Amino acid sequence: MTHPQRPTPPADAAQRRAVRPTIVYEVEQLPAFDAEFYERARTGMTLVSETIVPRREGRTIRVPKGHLFRIVSVEGPQVGDLNLWNAADLTERFFSGKTRALHATHVTTGDRLWSTLPSLRPMATITHDTLAWYGYDADGGGVHDVIGTRCDPYTNQLLKGVPYHHCCHSNLTRALATTTGLPLSEAEPLVHDVLNVFMCTGFTHDTHQYFMKASPVRPGDFIEFFAEIDLLAGLSACPGGDCGSSHSDDVAPCYPLKVEVFAPRPESLVGWTSWARNSYVHP
Ligand SMILES: [Zn+2]
Repeated sequence: MTHPQRPTPPADAAQRRAVRPTIVYEVEQLPAFDAEFYERARTGMTLVSETIVPRREGRTIRVPKGHLFRIVSVEGPQVGDLNLWNAADLTERFFSGKTRALHATHVTTGDRLWSTLPSLRPMATITHDTLAWYGYDADGGGVHDVIGTRCDPYTNQLLKGVPYHHCCHSNLTRALATTTGLPLSEAEPLVHDVLNVFMCTGFTHDTHQYFMKASPVRPGDFIEFFAEIDLLAGLSACPGGDCGSSHSDDVAPCYPLKVEVFAPRPESLVGWTSWARNSYVHP
């Protein structure tokens, strides 16, 4: 990629660059992650459903509020693209950008997945992540990003000039249409930027371009969420497989993903209430 030449820096460029950064949001004001509560909810929970998301396909899963769900690696390293909707109102959906701004470029245990404006509330809380050990590597890569969007056929058409029909965007669109009975044209605008489950990504140190590298996920690894509201989850087993080489084609080895839904012991939720929508109202 070529860029126009940069102008000569001003005389005080070094001073301007040296000002100290400020964390944008005062996240310590957010309601704290109550580790004890979530641990209690996980303890003794019962498996109530299992869904296999076939490779290069998408599926939806309903998760009642107060239940937990896991995305599990099976058979081989595989990345999943996750969408979340309020099961009762599909216009309220996962807000990848605000989740990134509130937490970080990559999320793990203790982080929340926030919903779009005007609701802006936690849809789910990450209660366990077997890849939490990964942190950030020497390339600046981390796991489970909220910086990518989802592979889609339009970008692929733009860059490669070829149609491909099993991008995560298309898989999620078809899965949502199947579940809701909506025509594809109405389901498609409801598909949104994802949580890239198990994907290892970052920005290059020099040009700050989005990169991916082979996911460290192995069969048996999982990420687990507590549903803070009634959820409809959509998951695509990305055609990029472990996303170590290509995507948006059938070249990479791909594997299914498993989604498990668990019911907690009712007594473990005593005192817990689902999150209300954000209380701000326009004047
Ligand atoms: Zn994908």
